[in-house]
Amino acid sequence: MKNKKQVFDNVLDLVGNTPLIKLNRMVSNFKGNFYAKVEAFNPGHSSKDRTALYIIEQAEKKGILKPGDTIIETTSGNTGFSIAMVSIIKGYECILAVSSKSSPDKIDMLKTMGAKVYVCPAHVPADDPRSYYEVAKRIHEETPGSIYINQYFNELNIDAHYDSTGPEIWSQTEGKITHLVACSGTGGTISGTARYLKEQNPNIKVIGVDAFGSVIKKYHETREFDEKEIYPYRIEGLGKNLIPGATDFDVIDTFVKVTDEESAHAARELARTEGLFSGYTSGAAMQAIKQLDESGEFKDGDQIVVIFPDHGSRYMSKVYSDKWMQDQGFFDSQNEVTAENIQY
Ligand code: PMP
Repeated sequence: MKNKKQVFDNVLDLVGNTPLIKLNRMVSNFKGNFYAKVEAFNPGHSSKDRTALYIIEQAEKKGILKPGDTIIETTSGNTGFSIAMVSIIKGYECILAVSSKSSPDKIDMLKTMGAKVYVCPAHVPADDPRSYYEVAKRIHEETPGSIYINQYFNELNIDAHYDSTGPEIWSQTEGKITHLVACSGTGGTISGTARYLKEQNPNIKVIGVDAFGSVIKKYHETREFDEKEIYPYRIEGLGKNLIPGATDFDVIDTFVKVTDEESAHAARELARTEGLFSGYTSGAAMQAIKQLDESGEFKDGDQIVVIFPDHGSRYMSKVYSDKWMQDQGFFDSQNEVTAENIQY
């Protein structure tokens, strides 16, 4: 580990070098040994701290950014939070164009972190001048000394993980990793991590996690964009209705698709069995591991690393709300632990 410091200059000193934590009870009946790369230990509580910091520092190195300049992105999610955090410390303006579907909590959180937030109508086509994509592009064009992060199409998103997540996992497993299981949204995490790991050992198997309702898995298999794959789903940050330029499909061996319901239950199970309070996509990754175990993917002695992208606290009104689970029809069993049936 690089960071042996006891006192840090600022929060950015703590980005990366996240722990690898062995999973025990949840995988006790599975073949192989499982280790979680817990990205919630980043100061902004997600893997997106790495992407934001890396892309901004690359722009600084190229002389594109100087203090007081502006950083623009189109997300109310983890990336928005991370960019806002980096901007505070480095003295940049942060402008986020977000969809009106974003929860008020998220918008308040970004404003608290000093971001200027433009709320754009959700139900307009991407090329409508009011869409958050178009608003971000326009602000970027009109603002001298600005950069547009554009995480879905920025190759540096891959490089961020090639530079940090991959080497960390290689060294933490002492080169013994046999499988990498990771969610794919922009694809930056899985692509950069896999690219590094496969350069060290091409036999490492890389498995992406995709959502039912997303085109990614089908595209990987056919290299064709199949619109029929696309329908609404609940998990945020996983899968997509377009093909991200920040995904390197050649370093991913296969994809597994997971459902909203099973991923939600897996996220709750992860908290109850391992004491790891993680986000919805961490549940999705664990659900993928269950399916892979059932299909005989793992054998004794395998060292499987699974990436948990963020912290559970961002999902209190969703996966960790019994009411939300009930409203989705995700509680069909009397045995499910809810606030109502728990015995004090
Ligand atoms: N999980 C969550 C919660 C995310 O916000 C993201 C990022 N969109 C991912 C997984 C996927 O990471 P990546 O974009 O690097 O593929």
